[in-house]
Amino acid sequence: MVKAIVGANWGDEGKGKITDVMAAQSDIVIRFQGGSNAGHTIVNNYGKFALHQLPSGVFYDHVTNIIGNGVAFSVENFVKEMKSLQERGVPKPHVLISDRAQIVMPYHVQFDVYEEERLSSRQFGSTKSGIAPFYADKVSKIGFQINELFDDEESLRDKVSHVLELKNATLKGLYCKDTMSEKEIFDKLMEYKEQIAPYVADTFDYLYHAVKQGKNILLEGQLGALKDTDFGIYPMVTSSNTIAGYGAVGAGIPPYEIKEIITVVKAYSSAVGAGEFVSEIFGEEADELRRRGGDGGEYGATTGRPRRMGWLDLVATRYGCRVQGTTTIAFTVLDVLGYLSEIPVCVGYELDGKRVDAFPSTTKLKRAKPILEVLPGWKCDIRGIKRYEDLPENCRRYIEFAEKEIGIPIGIISNGPSRDDIIYR
Ligand code: GDP
Repeated sequence: MVKAIVGANWGDEGKGKITDVMAAQSDIVIRFQGGSNAGHTIVNNYGKFALHQLPSGVFYDHVTNIIGNGVAFSVENFVKEMKSLQERGVPKPHVLISDRAQIVMPYHVQFDVYEEERLSSRQFGSTKSGIAPFYADKVSKIGFQINELFDDEESLRDKVSHVLELKNATLKGLYCKDTMSEKEIFDKLMEYKEQIAPYVADTFDYLYHAVKQGKNILLEGQLGALKDTDFGIYPMVTSSNTIAGYGAVGAGIPPYEIKEIITVVKAYSSAVGAGEFVSEIFGEEADELRRRGGDGGEYGATTGRPRRMGWLDLVATRYGCRVQGTTTIAFTVLDVLGYLSEIPVCVGYELDGKRVDAFPSTTKLKRAKPILEVLPGWKCDIRGIKRYEDLPENCRRYIEFAEKEIGIPIGIISNGPSRDDIIYR
């Protein structure tokens, strides 16, 4: 049985926590896209962790964690993350890295920084992890697949030389920066090869057999539907497809095997980076929600920068859930809203004087204004509650209102950051 856990919104919905909870019953957890540009925060018996690249099943000894071919794989971050788990007493996880995954090269990070500098006020708000230059090179066929590191040295040197012709021309001509030597890049690749050799595998073949044997497999998405390259708020999107369907490509699993798509929806909105955000709020109202949000405030797990805040946007969320092909919603961070006596939610957009309920493409989205409806708050702490019936009435009304507007069942409710703060309906 293959299940996907993905985001409906701009990311940071709490996918890491839901994956960590569900990994208890899984054999395999797979990251299939993105890289170390976002963090999944997990709070469990080992402490609080922000995983950037490792799958969220790394805390369980019975789970095989796979970094799929669709991932932007940073060797440096991988080594760092594995080390930090070890330092904090987590037993060494079982990790396999696809030999078809590609490597984030040192120059990808540089190019990300230089390009944001060049764009200045028009920048994307990149986390500067090299993700956009990485995916651009992948589709331009000048990326490095991991198996190439294990090819004969001559072929690899030839490829490095061919790629550097282009890279150095851009460094010099566009960014006015120092160029790179073939030796420097080749040596770095050899260093990478040594570091990852014990983990590299033909994960396609491994997964083919695992699916045949009926193993429980989780696909773990990064970011959310509104950051998807195709369906998100282009161009203020990430450089990979964040939708469950891409799990089939980024891991190598037949699409029809993905039987359940659990889409994580946060009970309010937050976003990082630039781009359209119709239900955004500002000033003290936003500061308070940011301070109280998540587990210790809404600040980027990779960059530490304050996230933009907003009310639950049901237009965007309904769209995000449809794009994902959601079968069940996991509604998270609901406990945070307990301080409000009234909770605004965005139920529609006003676009050129008309009400719209469908999420428009970016050029129209720029002109959209939120139509808000105000629901009564519950004014108490709901952490520790284990049964749906025991939630305050106004809290259940909030959940049921969202469910009706989105049109997909909310089967899981998260009322706190820990593994135990979970209610199944
Ligand atoms: P992800 O990238 O989707 O995994 O989300 P993040 O980890 O960036 O952000 C979610 C934040 O909310 C983290 O700090 C989590 O510990 C926290 N979190 C997840 N679920 C809940 C919840 O139900 N309540 C609270 N208060 N925090 C939660």
